[in-house]
Amino acid sequence: MSKLDSLVASTRQTLELIAREYTPAVFASSLAAEDMVLTDLILKAKLPIGIFSLETGRLHKETLAMLDRVKDHYGYEIALYRPQQDAVDQYVAQNGLNAFYDSVDMRKECCRIRKVEPLGRALAGNKAWITGQRRAQSNTRTTLQVHEDDPGHLMDKFNPLADWSEEDVWEYLRANDVPTNALHEQGFPSIGCEPCTRAIQPGEDVRAGRWWWENPESKECGLHVVDGKLIRIKSVAA
Ligand code: SF4
Repeated sequence: MSKLDSLVASTRQTLELIAREYTPAVFASSLAAEDMVLTDLILKAKLPIGIFSLETGRLHKETLAMLDRVKDHYGYEIALYRPQQDAVDQYVAQNGLNAFYDSVDMRKECCRIRKVEPLGRALAGNKAWITGQRRAQSNTRTTLQVHEDDPGHLMDKFNPLADWSEEDVWEYLRANDVPTNALHEQGFPSIGCEPCTRAIQPGEDVRAGRWWWENPESKECGLHVVDGKLIRIKSVAA
């Protein structure tokens, strides 16, 4: 069995375990390459796992286009969770549309409004959630496990691709003719909001293009646990 076959087999087992023992469970997709591997595995196996995306209002058009491409390819409509409009309006009125460039606190408050709060709604009522995170993606994910507790959301969290390399991901996508985000061909290995994500140079960390103006240690959006600790969001809202 090839390395990829072995990874696929263990990932299928993890997804089947979730479907069997953690229903209802949901998969949070950012519509990036890793997430398309999991989308392909979940939908082809017809597993009872819902797929959703956080539509922050600041996504690239290429990312939004993936919603239709998934629908065309799999006949599946990804559920969208959007921020509360009054919270967005208040942040913009008080701080400006792009205040996230001003400080880490301002950035985390924007992520809290546009991602963390909608994520809470998306996860409510589920026993587990699934992400496409990989251990090799950045220095904030080196201890990532396939199965973790998520104390912030009081449920189990699964990262079925924790052991996969970037090469494994792309080998799977090509071999299975999976639709992929056009941003990947433009130097974006990691997909996020348009104003906070840029292309990277060869040899850079795959998440180097996310919040590139910040220190590497602060580069998470508050959705995940790092080193066993919930990434806290320090609110600076009035
Ligand atoms: S990634 Fe940027 S635009 Fe998106 S929610 Fe976070 S700070 Fe706001």
